Amino acid sequence: MTTTADRPVGARFGTEDTPEEAAFRAEARAFFEGVSERRTDRDETGNYFAMADNDPETHRRHVERNRDAQRRIADAGWAGFCVPEEYGGRGGERWQERIFRQEQARFTIDTGLFAVCLGMVLPTILAHGTEEQKRRHIPSMLQGGEIWCQLFSEPGAGSDLAGLTTRAVRDGDEFVVNGQKVWNSGAHHADYGALIARTDVDVPKHRGITYFLVDMRLPGVEVRPLRQATGVAHFNEVFLTDVRIPADCVLGEVNGGWGVAQTMLMNERNVIGSGGMGVGFGDYLRMARELGVTDDPTIRQALAAAFIRAQAAARAGRQPGPETSVGKLVASLHSAANGDLGLQIQGAGGMLAGPDAFRRGMFQQMFVGQWGMRIGGGTEQIQRNVIGERVLGLPGEPRPDKTLPFKDLPQNG
Ligand SMILES: Cc1cc2nc3c(=O)[nH]c(=O)nc-3n(C[C@H](O)[C@H](O)[C@H](O)COP(=O)(O)OP(=O)(O)OC[C@H]3O[C@@H](n4cnc5c(N)ncnc54)[C@H](O)[C@@H]3O)c2cc1C
Repeated sequence: MTTTADRPVGARFGTEDTPEEAAFRAEARAFFEGVSERRTDRDETGNYFAMADNDPETHRRHVERNRDAQRRIADAGWAGFCVPEEYGGRGGERWQERIFRQEQARFTIDTGLFAVCLGMVLPTILAHGTEEQKRRHIPSMLQGGEIWCQLFSEPGAGSDLAGLTTRAVRDGDEFVVNGQKVWNSGAHHADYGALIARTDVDVPKHRGITYFLVDMRLPGVEVRPLRQATGVAHFNEVFLTDVRIPADCVLGEVNGGWGVAQTMLMNERNVIGSGGMGVGFGDYLRMARELGVTDDPTIRQALAAAFIRAQAAARAGRQPGPETSVGKLVASLHSAANGDLGLQIQGAGGMLAGPDAFRRGMFQQMFVGQWGMRIGGGTEQIQRNVIGERVLGLPGEPRPDKTLPFKDLPQNG
């Protein structure tokens, strides 16, 4: 029997839907029933471990499954809710996308590798792209033909992203790019990268950056996977050596890339803030029941707090704008607290790892993995800065480097 608590985070079915939403939800669910299977606890554990399997053949199959799933969604007319029909989208509304994703979370069909492409790059191209760029990329993105990665962070530029030093120098109809990026999620699967690089050192740092749409197969692009504490090789270093990028791959204006990057970062926080971790409140409740600790008053309190957080995470920051920092921060704190909760419920068993542990150590992995969620997409401290300055209107941080030409700044290490 399915109880309310068994439902995934954010998927509150029935009671809160308007008749229009309920009809749409039923239609979406019928679609998924036709092309996929309902997700079970076992699938969730399996998926989590598939991500930790670094075998190239497992990765290849994972990529193929994702492409196939996205193609099926597009062929059935469900792709691109906020994308005009002329670019292959459905031309729907944001609430429809939310319900569609909630329903998808109940099934095994996986399109997670398209999160950067569809959730972050596509809206950025829609907002800043030329007509030719929109037609070149968007229909193919929706059809599962393009996996994208984000090439923003560098060893010396994370929170201070505008301090980046990767250079792009114009040479006729091309830009020649040299530098190093790091922490690039999924770059080892990606067909394209969204790159920001410095095109002018004589102006203040935010004003000399350009945003490029880069084919990852270009000569000079080298991707080296990095392994995280969880054992998953999810992100990479990307080295760019004399990479020649055609000038028609500049998105927005030359030296106007900071504004373009902001569009992508706001969409990134929205994706993270409205995503959740795949493991929902029901998974914790089930674990507490299986381990026979639901009578423990501290565990009961912790579960109640987790339920409230799950509700808050599902509601926060749905519109791309500075408010998405609220959603990202809520998701981040939720991830931290749930990481701890998983081990709290297990008690002394929380010290075990791997096959000896409950669900083969999935919750131990989540405990270690919480910091990825808390740092990726901008740290908790940076989200608090954005909320303070751009949502609450508090005085900004002192930024003495805002007006000096980039070349006169002390360089990051
Ligand atoms: C799982 C994961 C996935 C990622 N995926 C990608 C990706 O696909 N593409 C990509 O380009 N990058 C990616 N990143 C990189 C991520 O964006 C950066 O790690 C993040 O922005 C922090 O930068 P940093 O690591 O250089 O830390 P730093 O900026 O060096 O920060 C170190 C510490 O100082 C604090 N701090 C820094 N500045 C301030 C300030 N002004 N006020 C208060 N505190 C401050 C930070 O909060 C942090 O605690 C990913 C990171 C993770 C963990």
